[in-house]
Amino acid sequence: MGVLGSGQLGRMFAIAARRMGYRVHTFSPDEDTPTGQVADVEVMASYDDLDAVRAFAGNVDVVTFEFENVPAATAAAVEQRAPVRPSGEVLHITQHRLREKTWLAKHGFPVTPFRAIRSREDLNSFPLPAILKTAGFGYDGKGQYRIQKAADLDSAWASMNGREAVAEELVDFECELSVVAARAADGAVVQYQPSRNSHRDGILDVSMSPFPNREAWEITRAVMEQLNVIGVLCVEFFLTRRGKLIINELAPRPHNSGHLTIDSCVTSQFEQQLRAVCGLPLGSTEMLRPAAMANLLGDLWEHAEPNWASALRHPETKLHLYGKLEPRVGRKMGHLTAVGDTPELADRLVREARQALGIY
Ligand code: AMP
Repeated sequence: MGVLGSGQLGRMFAIAARRMGYRVHTFSPDEDTPTGQVADVEVMASYDDLDAVRAFAGNVDVVTFEFENVPAATAAAVEQRAPVRPSGEVLHITQHRLREKTWLAKHGFPVTPFRAIRSREDLNSFPLPAILKTAGFGYDGKGQYRIQKAADLDSAWASMNGREAVAEELVDFECELSVVAARAADGAVVQYQPSRNSHRDGILDVSMSPFPNREAWEITRAVMEQLNVIGVLCVEFFLTRRGKLIINELAPRPHNSGHLTIDSCVTSQFEQQLRAVCGLPLGSTEMLRPAAMANLLGDLWEHAEPNWASALRHPETKLHLYGKLEPRVGRKMGHLTAVGDTPELADRLVREARQALGIY
């Protein structure tokens, strides 16, 4: 198995793959990475080094990715030597907000009104409040600017540093939710229970599941089929105060809100990714217990390594650390999962466990 990217998503994928006896090679510009620490082979090279990319692809049977900002030329170079799943085409659409939103709108999926912004003038007359986002290379709320009033327009455009951007109307949402799904090579689709997600400073903070929503399931299935995904994809939604679903974005890979599937479902989202990209039958997505997940950011390390034992005092709490060497503020270092008789109970337990670590 080849994995482009070397973060925590690749690590949890590699653990699932090795459990089933696969060997894993990872490719990224870094070393001693979360994925590299558990992979068989860690290739350290630039994504632009296409000779290194081709050599990597020549040593594996199939390639997947854990990081969607892989350049299109890199995916194309891999495709010369090994199948890439999901395909370079899926990657191309979903790594660029403007292409993604245009694709969603064209296929009749619900998105908030948006406009391509390539100059300061393009922002004129866009309805406010709005949110301006870079079209490419954005994640975890990075490269975003909230525009409340016309006086903010100049600084909003300046913050994009001349990069292509997309303006979106601000959605007045009741909550955010997401659905992780997998689609096999033969077209079979399976979906996990939706998660309800809360964010802090644009970064996912806590997910809780199940949070049933039939329409979100149906939309997710339709996206998987229309986009012809082979692999795992997550659809992030806003649920408006009027009960309408709007797609925020797509992630063509396992998602942070699906980490709780490791400890609560028959088949985790990572094993599902493996099964889908290897052409195996998909596993059951049945949820054995309601669960909640809380992210652990680098902020927790401000004074010292947190005292993990204090979070694990509740026996139904599980700790996942990603092996990142440097705890920076806002960096995802690990997560906690708790299971409980209800999603609300799991949510309370996981928050209590995290509070026991310190600053939250
Ligand atoms: P994103 O990186 O696009 O997922 O945005 C990060 C977070 O910012 C989302 O999870 C929302 O909490 C918030 N956000 C993004 N876009 C909008 C929008 N159009 N309206 C309201 N909130 C938004």
